[in-house]
Amino acid sequence: MAKIFFSIGTNLGDRKKNIERAVKMLKKQVGKCVKISSFFVSEPWGFNSDNIFFNIAAEFETELQPFELLEVTQQIEQVIGRTHKTENRKYADRIIDIDILFYDNQIIDSHQLTIPHCLLHKRDFVLYPLAEIAPEFQHPVLKKTIKEIIDSNHKSTQKKRVFIKEQPSSFSK
Ligand code: AMP
Repeated sequence: MAKIFFSIGTNLGDRKKNIERAVKMLKKQVGKCVKISSFFVSEPWGFNSDNIFFNIAAEFETELQPFELLEVTQQIEQVIGRTHKTENRKYADRIIDIDILFYDNQIIDSHQLTIPHCLLHKRDFVLYPLAEIAPEFQHPVLKKTIKEIIDSNHKSTQKKRVFIKEQPSSFSK
C-alpha cells in the first residue's frame, strides 16, 4: 500500500463542488482518503484571470502504481470537464487540476510523470494545504519537510502568505 498526496485545484464554476466531486471519484478509483485539508483560496499563479482558485491537499492510500494513478487522475479530470492540458507552461483557467505530489518516497523523472511534482516546493497554494495535513512529510529530493520548505521560502522572499481558509463542509473521511 502506497501513501500518496494530491494537490487539487479549480478556478471555474462551482469550485467546492468540483473538488468534492474529484475527491469522491478518487475515493472510488484510487483508495482510502486518509486526510484532507481545508479549502485554500488564492489568486491565479502564473497567469492573469479574474477567477479565484480553490485548492486542497489530500492524502490517500493506494494499491495503484504511479503510472496507473496518473491515468486515473487524468481520466477523472476529463470526466469533470477539463478540456485542455497546460502546454509550454502556459496556464489557463481550469475546472479541475489533479496533481500527484508524492508517491511514498519514490522519485520518478519521466516525460509523462515527475514525482515529487516539479513545482510543488515553489507554490504556496500547494505547500500551505499540504502543511495542514503533513507538515513533517519529507520531500525525498530536497530532504526537507514541508514545514522546512515553507520556512526557507519565507527566508528568501521575506514574505509570509496569508490564505483565506474555508473548512470543507461535505467531505467525509
Ligand atoms: P496539467 O497540470 O494537468 O496540465 O498537467 C500536464 C501534464 O503534466 C500531464 O499531461 C502529465 O503527464 C504531466 N505530469 C507530470 N508530472 C505530473 C504529476 N506529478 N502529476 C500530474 N501530472 C503530471
